[in-house]
Amino acid sequence: MTLDDLPPLRDVIRRHDLAAKKSLGQNFLLDLNLTAKIARAAGPFGDMTFVEIGPGPGGLTRALLAQGATRVIAVERDHRAIAALAELAAHYEGRLDVIEGDALEFDPRPLVHGGKARIVANLPYNIATPLLIGWLTPESWPPFYDRLVLMFQREVAERIVATPRSKDYGRPSVLAQWRTRPKILFDIAPSAFVPPPKVTSSVVELIPRESPLPCDAGVLQRVTEAAFGQRRKMLRQSLKTLGVDPLPLLAAAKIPETARAEEIDVAGFVALANAFRTASG
Ligand code: SAM
Repeated sequence: MTLDDLPPLRDVIRRHDLAAKKSLGQNFLLDLNLTAKIARAAGPFGDMTFVEIGPGPGGLTRALLAQGATRVIAVERDHRAIAALAELAAHYEGRLDVIEGDALEFDPRPLVHGGKARIVANLPYNIATPLLIGWLTPESWPPFYDRLVLMFQREVAERIVATPRSKDYGRPSVLAQWRTRPKILFDIAPSAFVPPPKVTSSVVELIPRESPLPCDAGVLQRVTEAAFGQRRKMLRQSLKTLGVDPLPLLAAAKIPETARAEEIDVAGFVALANAFRTASG
């Protein structure tokens, strides 16, 4: 038995036949010190609904509940994990809602009832970036959550916080930094997971900006996709895929014709997106 009187996670995994599946990006974190450390990074708990993506056998979920989370909504795609999570829900009666489903299709907002929410997850690596982009690009802002506390592969985390003129700077950097203040909190070594992934992981915190530069999220996505889709080319070439003449866009955004995507900061992309929106009516 562990401190919270629940059976060790290894027992849970064995009893529920939860051998990790690569197709679901499953690398389970069984080290209680580390699950507790991530949960602390997601605190304080107070009057908050936590949305957890991919609880798996429930290591991080337990840590959130043990540290005082009064409501956790956990979305898990793997049917095998649902019974294990139901045991946890019974132990912490009324505090854990387990939803079986695909996080990419799941909208937590109706369950949050307009209250305060925070998203926390050791993300399945195969869908980590699309999930993040989805949370960053709703039409209305500020979003329904006050913070994202997410574990990514280190290289993805580095892309999120990268600044212009670095090799990691790209679409996720622009979208994340446009609407949030992202920060890498700490790294977790492969050896902490079962099975160990090939690469180091990083826990990243993203705090929504109250007033991001005004811009349409969909348009900014299209422009960054065109620009970084051919990142070695000059923007006057790569932006042609938008279906308009790039030169007036670059002029309107005060960006030199010879510039490349990786040289343009967030404000520059916002100006480009706004110019594209005006040009395309
Ligand atoms: N939270 C657990 C931990 O820290 O040990 C598991 C993390 S594991 C990296 C990712 C989890 O996401 C797995 O439990 C996996 O089944 C789940 N998952 C994968 N794809 C999913 C999806 N589309 N929707 C919801 N959960 C998903």
